[in-house]
Amino acid sequence: MNFNGIDFNTYFKNYPDENGYFGKYGGAYIPDDLKQAMDEITEAYYTICKSSKFISELRRIRKEFQGRPTPISHLARLSDSIGNVQIYVKREDLNHSGAHKLNHCMGEALLAKYMGKKKVIAETGAGQHGVALATAAAYFGLECDIYMGAVDIKKQAPNVARMKILGANVIEVTQGLATLKEAVDAAFEAYTKEYKDCIYCIGSALGPHPFPRMVREFQSVVGIEAREQFLEMTGELPDAVIACVGGGSNAMGLFSGFLNDPVDIYGVEPLGRGPAIGDHAASIKYGKEGIMHGFNSIMLMDENGEPAPVYSIASGLDYPSSGPEHAFLHDLGRAKYDVVDDEETVDAFFKLSRLEGIIPAIESSHAVAYGMKLAKQMTKGSILINLSGRGDKDMDYVIEKYGIR
Ligand SMILES: *Cc1c(COP(=O)(O)O)cnc(C)c1O
Repeated sequence: MNFNGIDFNTYFKNYPDENGYFGKYGGAYIPDDLKQAMDEITEAYYTICKSSKFISELRRIRKEFQGRPTPISHLARLSDSIGNVQIYVKREDLNHSGAHKLNHCMGEALLAKYMGKKKVIAETGAGQHGVALATAAAYFGLECDIYMGAVDIKKQAPNVARMKILGANVIEVTQGLATLKEAVDAAFEAYTKEYKDCIYCIGSALGPHPFPRMVREFQSVVGIEAREQFLEMTGELPDAVIACVGGGSNAMGLFSGFLNDPVDIYGVEPLGRGPAIGDHAASIKYGKEGIMHGFNSIMLMDENGEPAPVYSIASGLDYPSSGPEHAFLHDLGRAKYDVVDDEETVDAFFKLSRLEGIIPAIESSHAVAYGMKLAKQMTKGSILINLSGRGDKDMDYVIEKYGIR
């Protein structure tokens, strides 16, 4: 399929290019000592991950450990409550450990093992990435150092407990505001010193090359399964696919299966409390081009070019940028990016729970909320939503803040 001058039949061969660019976005904007470490990962990725041994081992793990393929469910009652459009969800909430993140963490940890590394390193904010990586590290018998701000450690006690039970070292970062930004800095600093023995595992489709590509490819299992399952279930393709976008990994996983099809693609960003700076994390909608955390993309920045403060009810979407491929697909018009606010999200959280018996992650509830809005506008057809994770982690907060609806 041709779209705005891009041939999507050959898209995956051409994007990103060998330097990690999707058009003008992406790249690797990092100090020289880190560059060497990233180049080592890039080279290993291109050779090891294309080997049939790696591919078949990952395939076996997906099936026997993660419980893949995850199903697609038809949401008959939710669809009927809105109109004639049929809504479906891809059930990443049923992936082992309850979300899509394990898809790329297992890939990254398997790569670490093949590279002969003893350890994986990462930062975590809310702890979701830390838990997924700790799970993968335990499976492969790798050490796991998770850097986490002191403030976040207090706020996210259950995830800290999970990581520790899984055998990870949770390293407290006390500098500055002691949240995600400081944790990123501390983890990169440690990696610069220790890269001979370990690899850094980025938690979404962002960061310096090769991570946006690598994470997309590890997540593409979602889109590949979903396309095949949807065709088998309904005999046709969905009219639209929808995913929430934080850094953009679950969205790239689903979208990559449908880029070359006549299917509308929607990424949903968190509008939080509203459009004022500091009240949302809708980086593509309100941001501009810039560089942070090693890559060029669209981002929310203050006057000094520093990451702007962001907010969302969903801690997994609370990031001032999105991966470079989303910026590229946005400029191209191949995917559309829109927003839903906290209120609409909580409403969708309860609707899906009440009408379908599925408690969604508050991140995924953004995509569900948007799907419900879109279903009202369309008079017929079908929508496939990526249900990126389950909502157990969000129940206490939602009830405390919003009550039972
Ligand atoms: C982390 C997380 C997200 C956001 O991350 P992406 O990289 O944008 O997919 C979405 N849903 C859930 C359940 C998460 O844990």
